[in-house]
Amino acid sequence: MAEITLEKITKVYPDGTRAVSELDLEIEDGEFVVFVGPSGCGKTTALRMIAGLEEITEGTIRIGGEVVNDLPPKDRDVAMVFQNYALYPHMSAFDNMAFALKLRDVPRIERMRRVNDAASMLGLADVLRKRPRTLSGGQRQRVAMGRAIVREPQAFLMDEPLSNLDAKLRVQMRAEIARIQRDLSVTTIYVTHDQSEAMTLGDRVAVMRRGELLQLAPPQALYSEPVNLFVAEFIGSPAMNLVEATVDDGHARMGPHRLTIDGARPGLAAYKGKRVAIGIRPEDLEDAAVADETREDAILDAVVDIREDMGSEVFVHFGIDATPVSTEDVREAAEEAAIEPERRQYVARVSRESRAREGDPVRLAVRTDRLHFFDLESGARIA
Ligand code: ATP
Repeated sequence: MAEITLEKITKVYPDGTRAVSELDLEIEDGEFVVFVGPSGCGKTTALRMIAGLEEITEGTIRIGGEVVNDLPPKDRDVAMVFQNYALYPHMSAFDNMAFALKLRDVPRIERMRRVNDAASMLGLADVLRKRPRTLSGGQRQRVAMGRAIVREPQAFLMDEPLSNLDAKLRVQMRAEIARIQRDLSVTTIYVTHDQSEAMTLGDRVAVMRRGELLQLAPPQALYSEPVNLFVAEFIGSPAMNLVEATVDDGHARMGPHRLTIDGARPGLAAYKGKRVAIGIRPEDLEDAAVADETREDAILDAVVDIREDMGSEVFVHFGIDATPVSTEDVREAAEEAAIEPERRQYVARVSRESRAREGDPVRLAVRTDRLHFFDLESGARIA
């Protein structure tokens, strides 16, 4: 086990593509860090540099305190799990797991112990004699995990290991990976483009875009204090509602709507009379009739477009007379989070007691103490 430190890691490919730019990151011993971001943001490249599969253009990588820049992959004592787990088809599950140990001259008894331990941890004990072809997708993925576990490495590096599995299996394996990582306490870096996977797995989540690290924080902090509009839109499902507004004395105006701004917001002083972006999480809106909210400046008068009954709660997609924020950041994040264009209107997550009906007006109470503010030009969070 080991901490992993990245110091100003940069990767420029021979064709001039700058895939990773001055990435700084300190990962603690035993920590689970997830790299998440849109396709092409550089997360795989970053992981491959740590594994030693990609040369580092600039910067320093340390694993367990040792600079590994010039160490070949096999000497870095890390185990990779890939999306295409590429098991040897002619070998049994057991041999697939034991193979790397054999190459390292681990004695037979020790090989058997490690493989059997991993197999029982992964629920593979009964299928160890089977060839990959005769295993289910989930079992194959477990064998690939087992192959990494038996090596007892200093770190696991996982690149979208679940993306070949169907949705249900993915969620199940996700829980297993979390459990195994906790049990073994092996430092783990996990790459995914799926924000919900990132949020459920990571002790901390690193959001990347265009080769740069935008924010590194525990899931809760990422959710409650996104550093910019990109992270705000990208993290959370359904996504944050983002509306253009102007701020004046303690209020925000969005078209004909006016909301009070609760709490001290010193950062907003510089924006008086200017346009900003306001962010409202769907769960910070409630049907005013249910919430018993009467303050006019904590209510949005809206019209229900779609009512989606989820059983435990209701998603109310609504329209208001205000301009949605549609900067490049927000559009890119929405596309990446696969938010369908017709779902990109505003949404509230209200109580199932709400009687809001499609086509009808609805009054939505806003948690005005939980509003998020962003600079429209730079996209940066206003503290
Ligand atoms: P994905 O989720 O699609 O795998 P990613 O975030 O992992 O994306 P990378 O694969 O690290 O992104 O790629 C980062 C950037 O580097 C992309 O613009 C990609 O086109 C480019 N890139 C990757 N490999 C090479 C290469 N061998 N030569 C040139 N450019 C490359």
